[in-house]
Amino acid sequence: MYVILLGAPGAGKGTQADILSTEMHLPHIAPGDLFRRALEEKTELGLLAKKYMEEGKLVPNEITSRMILERINQPACTFGCLFDGFPRTLEQAEVLDKALVDQGKNIDKAIYIYVPDEELVKRLSGRWICQSCQTPYHLISSPPKVPGKCDKCGGKLYQRPDDREETVRERLKVFFSQTMPLLERYRKQDKLIEINGNLGIQEVAKEILSVLKGSK
Ligand code: AMP
Repeated sequence: MYVILLGAPGAGKGTQADILSTEMHLPHIAPGDLFRRALEEKTELGLLAKKYMEEGKLVPNEITSRMILERINQPACTFGCLFDGFPRTLEQAEVLDKALVDQGKNIDKAIYIYVPDEELVKRLSGRWICQSCQTPYHLISSPPKVPGKCDKCGGKLYQRPDDREETVRERLKVFFSQTMPLLERYRKQDKLIEINGNLGIQEVAKEILSVLKGSK
């Protein structure tokens, strides 16, 4: 099963992808995580992505698509995967469709998690992430048991530089102008499922799982 998670920054894609990938036994593919890891390792890719990420802009399609295609060609993705943050533009959606169709596969569902704008800004400004395993926390709604430490792996938590308010506003602008048109694309293909993301984490996960398990 190939599933896309769509939603504005802060809608909870990463949190839900973690839960769903465990429940559905699907590898989780998130370009944002891959770029952050590359940056930490100071690879050429990481350094290239850095300036776009810091400005809240999209990394050029060519670079992002190449990185994602390499991933989906790995054996772990033979039977499916969960895309979190890809595609983000119509061009990326076309690249992904073509790559899957060439393998005789297809996107099964696109899940759009929607959350009001004011809530997105609030969520992002309180978000802290594990440096090692990328698990997200929120200082108010889902704090770690020990301040500054990841519950899962003990890794150090940090605040993403692109979660600053000014960059958040740019990321939201990019979402509305470049990613929103994808909703229409998947709606026309009868693959779009809209989920209210303004509920508790487990409630949102339950909703998505019931849709995905029902359509297996
Ligand atoms: P995220 O962790 O999904 O919020 O992504 C963080 C940043 O990584 C974005 O603001 C972009 O700069 C970059 N990025 C993530 N996904 C993509 C994508 N599909 N296309 C281009 N850039 C991306």
